[in-house]
Formats: sequence, structure tokens, C-alpha cells
Amino acid sequence: MITFCRIIMFLLVFSTVPGLECKSYGFVPPAELQAFPMIKINNKSVTLSNDGKLLIEVTLDNSIWSAPTDEIAFHSATVAYVVYKAIPFAFSTPMKIQISKWDHPRILFNRGPNNEYLVLLGDSNQAPYIAFGFGQELGHALIDNLNGSADPQLWFEETFCEALAVWALQQLALEWGKSKDGNLKFYAQMFSSEAKNLHYNTKPPSEGYPLWFAKNRKFLTEKCNDRELENEGHFPYFHFFKGGRLAAFIISEQ
Ligand SMILES: [Zn+2]
Repeated sequence: MITFCRIIMFLLVFSTVPGLECKSYGFVPPAELQAFPMIKINNKSVTLSNDGKLLIEVTLDNSIWSAPTDEIAFHSATVAYVVYKAIPFAFSTPMKIQISKWDHPRILFNRGPNNEYLVLLGDSNQAPYIAFGFGQELGHALIDNLNGSADPQLWFEETFCEALAVWALQQLALEWGKSKDGNLKFYAQMFSSEAKNLHYNTKPPSEGYPLWFAKNRKFLTEKCNDRELENEGHFPYFHFFKGGRLAAFIISEQ
């Protein structure tokens, strides 16, 4: 049933939004750092800490990226920051994440030599795209369900991660929007637009999710990893991704 490579979890494919260009600074300016005092850029990593306690450390490998690597790591850490604020208990153990370049966001089942999570992100200089991809994979790392076995409820994990990523974008828009700095306000706009775009065309099944789930439960649990179905346009995850986006939207409206 599962033709999916064992070491790789699930990829998320969302094209970047046309026309949504994000300014690339070439470095992280002081105003951005000041907006997130819990985040520090070190020599080769970016850390998020609270009262001296390390929560998460993000590093990038030696790939050649089109955006400055400190920006990528910094924006990833800002996602961790908003998630930490909402669910601090999920960060009880310091987490290390190493990011490498690949064509789509993924997280690997196997860890690195220092027990770090290995996350792959698409190369993009668009901050919202980085944040969204990282948000998804951070969700998996937090759930820590990457044991390589077939989990029949994996579709639900994907839904959670989707909702978390969209919600994180909305929260980041609020964080950046607090600043009077024009560049940061620009980021706020970008994050907000990306979240809205992700909601665009989100149509729940006409019969409602409970009935839809009852009809599709077997398919979801048995075929959720079947990548071939994706090519045929039957990949059930995507419906739940939409559900995840809808959930994020509903939460944000409260
Ligand atoms: Zn995922």
C-alpha cells in the first residue's frame, strides 16, 4: 500500500503566490531583531530562548540559497516563537532543526548526528513561503511522530500541521504589524496576504466534514501515503489540508 520512501515523510506542495514578492534585505536588520528579542542570530545558527533556556536552534546546511541564510533561519525561528507562545509545553525539550534545500518542504524520519530534526525547504526568497513551509514541518517535529511506521491517522497530523502553518502566518502578520517600522509593516502585509491566499478557494465538502469523513475514512486511513493517487488528483490529504486551512481561519476569527 505504501509506496512512499521510508525515510521521508510527506511533502507539502503549495505553489508560491504569484505577485507576492518579498523584499530581500541581504541580512536581518536591527529592527527585525528588536521585534523578536527572544531570537538571537549566532555564528552559524539562530536560537529562540526564554530566560536563558534554549527552546529551539535552527541551522542551515551549506546549500547555496537564493535568500540570505540568516534570514531563512530567522524567519523560521519567528514561526517557532509564535507557536511557543501558544503551546509552550510543546517545547519542553530543546529542539534542534537543520534546514537543507530541496524542491518542497519535507521533514525526514531519520535525525541528524546530533539528534537534530532534518527539514528540507524549497528555495525561495519569499518570507511567507519559508514561514509556511517551516510551520508545517515544525508541526511534525512537535508531534514527534516520525517513527517511520505507517500511521493510519497520518492524515490528521497533516491537517494539524497545515492549520498550524496558516495560523502561524496570521500570528506573524500581527507580530510584524506591531512595529512602526515600514519594512516590518511590509512583512505584516505579506504574511497576511499569504494566509488569505491559502484560504482562497477553501470550500468544505458540501455534505459537511462529518459525513464526508464517514464516507472517506477507509480511504484516508489506508491510502493516505499513496503518492500515486496524488498524480491522479485523488490525494485525500489535500481535502484535509483545506480543512486545516479552514480550521486556522475559524480559530483566527475568534
Ligand atoms: Zn506535512
